[in-house]
Amino acid sequence: MTIKWISTLLLSAALLASPATAQDRAAETRPIHDRSQWLPPSVPTSDDVLRIPAPAGYNAPKGSFVLVGGRLFDGTGAAARPATIVVEGKTITAVLKPDDRNWPKDAIVYDVTGKTVMPGLIDLHMHLTFLDADDMSVYSDSNISGAQSVMRGLGRMGIYLQSGVTSVRDVGSHGDAPFVLKKLQAAGEIPGPRIFAAGQLITMTGGHGAGHAFGPGYPEVGDGNPNSMVRIASGPDEWREAVRIQFAKGADLIKLASEYSQAEISAAVDEAHSLGLPVTVDAETQYIDMAIKAGVDSIEHPLPRSDAAIALMAKKGVASVPTLIPYRIITRSSGGYFGSTSRRFQLNETTILDMARKMRRAGVKMGIGLDLIMNWPEYMPGAYINELESFTQIGFTRTEALVAATKTSAEIMRMGDRLGTIERGKLADIIVVDGNPDQDLSALKKVRTAFVNGRLMLQDGRLFMPAHEEKPLPSAK
Ligand SMILES: [Zn+2]
Repeated sequence: MTIKWISTLLLSAALLASPATAQDRAAETRPIHDRSQWLPPSVPTSDDVLRIPAPAGYNAPKGSFVLVGGRLFDGTGAAARPATIVVEGKTITAVLKPDDRNWPKDAIVYDVTGKTVMPGLIDLHMHLTFLDADDMSVYSDSNISGAQSVMRGLGRMGIYLQSGVTSVRDVGSHGDAPFVLKKLQAAGEIPGPRIFAAGQLITMTGGHGAGHAFGPGYPEVGDGNPNSMVRIASGPDEWREAVRIQFAKGADLIKLASEYSQAEISAAVDEAHSLGLPVTVDAETQYIDMAIKAGVDSIEHPLPRSDAAIALMAKKGVASVPTLIPYRIITRSSGGYFGSTSRRFQLNETTILDMARKMRRAGVKMGIGLDLIMNWPEYMPGAYINELESFTQIGFTRTEALVAATKTSAEIMRMGDRLGTIERGKLADIIVVDGNPDQDLSALKKVRTAFVNGRLMLQDGRLFMPAHEEKPLPSAK
């Protein structure tokens, strides 16, 4: 009787304790379900994170071209060397020795003598549609129109491409605007970088960015605003649903921001990973511990965290996108870093570099992200070059910084097999630079030509669009 009573008690205690424990453990170890086990490598798929089966040659432009006479910095970390690059459709089909002329007879030949050919740069932290500073006094996220958001994003795509950026990871933009822009760019209808979009940033009531979710009428609780840049969620179920809403819009990743409970972030990460989406988080202090426990894939910014958290990031392969340049801009233009309810800590140009240096020393994988909010894209390409220079200040060589900007950043986007280097079989995202960026980073101010997905989109430093091709009228019966 007594034994039975005790064992019943123990069983109830175990039942009470076990669901949370098991859930935590599952969330911590659950991998991204990328479906690759169901898709043999021979099956062509979409060139995004979801890898949806697609017809062969999907989205490839017609024709081929070669780049001859240049020095190739291929993004693998190897020293620059003379080489000829052959592109057929959207794919790099060969990297030839300079005297080898084995390319398709009808290929367009670009003479790039004296220039450097390299993989297009990647920005892992962008907000295509973020309101300009001037607009913020007139509009809020709840009365901005989708058309305004799309046009703002289009302008920024042009600036980024002129700066040599051929892929951006949009980690929070208004409504469906980034998805509209992504589709038009992929179809070759507008020039700009390839877009990987998170959709709305997800946070809690009062969390980082939550103010963007509200307009006039604040504090109306809930999201209720599909055009907003931010979605508010309360409780694990709403965090799961918020993830599903971005997935439904076509998200390539999920962006979460502190603050949250462990149960909320664990639910969101579990849901995203089940759907095949990686997760990145804007967090600080103990919220970074929770994010690591939940199994996130990367953490944005150089915000405060413990040495133990840094060691765990390295051990578990959680990448860092330190985004040093926005904090430089803030401290220089505001005379300091002034917090908010979600930013109760102190930062300056020394502390951000120290944090990045610690992560570098611990062996955390690090990529390039600029977080140029408001009208800061006008600081391009200097902002990108400044971020690369920061990487050299924390222990990267110039070559390693450029590899972080290309190969490593592609890997952090889970696109490392298709983007980030100039090698046979990769997608043709290529820039041509006047000068040697691997010897002098400021040469990146002179990006002359850019191809995205094998399409010429920048020529002589200006955006390029092919001429309209007339379609014949329907013939009379
Ligand atoms: Zn951001």
